[in-house]
Amino acid sequence: MVLKKFPLLLSILLLALPVFGQQQSSSKPKPRVIVVGVNGMELDIIRPLLLQGQMPNLSSVIGRGAYGKLRTVSAPNCPRVYSTLFTSTNPEEHGVTGFIVGGITANTNMLKEEPVWSMLSKSGITVGMANVPATFPVMPVNGYMISGMLTRGKNCEDGVLCAPKLSEVMGGDAVYPKSMQAELLKNVGDFYIDCERMPAAADLKGHETELIDKWLGKVQLIREQQTKLFDYLLTTHPTEFTFLAQSCEDRTGHWLYPITPFNVGYNPSINSVRIDAFPDQYVAFDKVLGSILKHVDENTYLIIFSDHGIKPLREFEEKDPHAHMDHEKTTPVIAKHDFADGDDVPGSFFAMGPGIKHDLRLMGLGASVYDVAPTLLHIYGLEQPKQMRGRILTEIFESPDNKVAVKK
Ligand SMILES: [Zn+2]
Repeated sequence: MVLKKFPLLLSILLLALPVFGQQQSSSKPKPRVIVVGVNGMELDIIRPLLLQGQMPNLSSVIGRGAYGKLRTVSAPNCPRVYSTLFTSTNPEEHGVTGFIVGGITANTNMLKEEPVWSMLSKSGITVGMANVPATFPVMPVNGYMISGMLTRGKNCEDGVLCAPKLSEVMGGDAVYPKSMQAELLKNVGDFYIDCERMPAAADLKGHETELIDKWLGKVQLIREQQTKLFDYLLTTHPTEFTFLAQSCEDRTGHWLYPITPFNVGYNPSINSVRIDAFPDQYVAFDKVLGSILKHVDENTYLIIFSDHGIKPLREFEEKDPHAHMDHEKTTPVIAKHDFADGDDVPGSFFAMGPGIKHDLRLMGLGASVYDVAPTLLHIYGLEQPKQMRGRILTEIFESPDNKVAVKK
């Protein structure tokens, strides 16, 4: 799989693996970075919750760091943006242009540009990843990788917006190294790898309240499993670079966004049932963040980002060439993110750690999804490769030189 795309990378990685242990013990400690990706986090929904004190953990991160909007790509969706973020190249260059590429569910075999985790692995940095979208089948890293959204399996044969359990994965490996799978099944349980599929319109009719509550219950179960997984990994497999991701928030927003009767697609039998369902996802996410923050000390960098926001449907919906193509199947969606103009639905970015400014609000759309990978490399004192289109977010650092970023 990865062999075809990055033969040089893998051979270097395999050659270097035996010496990683020695390097770590003899050289000075490398920076520790935890990245948390939240799919489709919408600042319009989060801001009132921050004001009401319902997201105390995110509030504390904001107070201790820098945050703002994150410019995304045109017609953003999860695999398209995450792959842009990994590689700092545009979707046409890295090849993962959407959920489906050339009739096939997007997968790591399609990735034509080197992702940041393999650059870090090659440099001897230990890497741990869990539930990051568009990482199936998993790729070899200097550590571990558990796949996320687009993992295929039983009851989720195409891998698009559904959730196989770890034991039910098909068509590739969901865990690297393979030997870790048995350990996870034993110690964490048979968890769902991604979020639940949204219900179809025909199933909802006449059973709206019952189905909404059942679906939200499953979403919460998946989140609890993820929280347990993340805590287990951070406790028993600490790595210098850790990348964790959540995806249920976005999916909730698509059909349970708290819209008004004036919005496109309003259906009171669905949209008046649980108007707090979408905001509640972020209150729940904040608790997940709290459990991650227990593993964050003053020498750890924490970066939280969202690949895009999500907004209610617009008046031009009928004519928009990107009219919610990817997500809905037959679900009555009322909000989306694949607007032709990505600036309509910016993501968000939060960072704190040694040498990062406190209480800094980034204005405008100056920070973009292309900038995350170069900024991560900068924290480790690694040079940005020439194919990367982004820039180091120097404005978030007290001092832009590498010495500040790498000091322990
Ligand atoms: Zn979505």
